[in-house]
Amino acid sequence: MRDTLLDSEDKLFREEIQDFMARELGPRAQAIERDEWKATRDMLRELGRAGYLTPMFKDHYRGKLANPGLTHAVMVTEEAARLSYAFETTVATALSCAYPLHRHAQAQPRERWLDAILSGQGIGAICITEDSVGSDSAGMKTTLRYDESTREWVVNGFKRYISNASVADVYLVYGITDASVSAQKGMSAVLVPKDARGMSFPRRYSFMGRRGCVVGEVRFEDVRIPADHLLGEPNRGFQIMLGMFNFERVILGGSGLGVARSAFEIAIAHAQQREVFGEMLSAKQLTWDKIAEMSWRIDAAELLTYRAAKLYDRGTDNKTLMKPAAMAKLVATETANYCADRTVQILGGDGLTCEYGRAEQIYRDARALTIVGGTSEMVKYLIASADLPLAKPKL
Ligand SMILES: Cc1cc2nc3c(=O)[nH]c(=O)nc-3n(C[C@H](O)[C@H](O)[C@H](O)COP(=O)(O)OP(=O)(O)OC[C@H]3O[C@@H](n4cnc5c(N)ncnc54)[C@H](O)[C@@H]3O)c2cc1C
Repeated sequence: MRDTLLDSEDKLFREEIQDFMARELGPRAQAIERDEWKATRDMLRELGRAGYLTPMFKDHYRGKLANPGLTHAVMVTEEAARLSYAFETTVATALSCAYPLHRHAQAQPRERWLDAILSGQGIGAICITEDSVGSDSAGMKTTLRYDESTREWVVNGFKRYISNASVADVYLVYGITDASVSAQKGMSAVLVPKDARGMSFPRRYSFMGRRGCVVGEVRFEDVRIPADHLLGEPNRGFQIMLGMFNFERVILGGSGLGVARSAFEIAIAHAQQREVFGEMLSAKQLTWDKIAEMSWRIDAAELLTYRAAKLYDRGTDNKTLMKPAAMAKLVATETANYCADRTVQILGGDGLTCEYGRAEQIYRDARALTIVGGTSEMVKYLIASADLPLAKPKL
């Protein structure tokens, strides 16, 4: 049964979002897959114009919902990912950048970029991953040095695998401000505008999936930014990052769920129209097994994702939210991969070709989900660490 944790207002919002995505994203999805940036850009503006980037920022929300929240942002990402995961990643990255901006930015930079991102006119990027550091983000080498004489932050470092690199208007950059202590105590976060001198984009990557979402490298060479571009207090960057990850992982629950549902819908339709050995494929018990395995996983992903979203909307603190957010991310993204794989199997040769629908695209797209925003291995560590508070695992 769908949407068990949602109330009647939430369900009406889902219908509204489904209609919107079918109308606006559906016709653009193929152009986005062909990597036509204009289609992504236009769609983001439509989403912003309709106000669908704001539900979780109550002071910016102007829509009909009496209780807007993360629940509704997840519905937006779920319904977007159902039609185009590449587009959804652009939205998810924008929201994940808006979240710390909203919470921690000082007045002037907040005003400059938050409205722009939430209205779909501006784009944000998050810079954590480096050459030698992915999962182990505390080992980052990028430095943020405060120059007293000019009252500026000076950024030096190299970031890779950055979604929206070169197309974003603002870059939320994590770096080390105090190397004499652990990153947990010596990391900070700053905002770097796209036109900052000393910033460059050496390379854009080609990925097997998520085509249409720009991902590349960002280099910072003595990039100077005003003092007020710091987020929160100096040396509190790690805590800001953890809060952002919680939020991002619930959103990724929606992404995984949307991708899983799109695969499942294709599998169901195919199994009920393809004849094999004189019968519908759907009449075969081995097909039932595949359908049942997908079906329960999707329900589990849905329950965990919306549980986490509802917990957030109830004001659950970051420490408590860590485990449910990690579970939502883990189960929904693994489910997306499972469903993409089983759907290709159900379709046979048709599942591998570009000529017979989207199954092959979904299969390529889904693969990124268990790697971005914390790999499955990393989120399992988070889940277990909440259950084993006395253990101090050496990762
Ligand atoms: C399409 C895409 C978009 C991305 N967008 C962004 C972005 O916008 N901003 C950003 O900062 N980053 C981004 N990333 C980077 C992403 O967050 C990292 O790829 C991810 O965190 C994993 O880091 P890594 O690739 O360096 O892998 P590694 O950390 O090197 O890990 C490699 C493998 O080893 C496993 N592993 C690592 N440590 C352990 C351990 N202790 N025990 C067991 N297994 C372990 C991992 O789970 C993984 O399976 C993006 C990546 C991709 C692919």
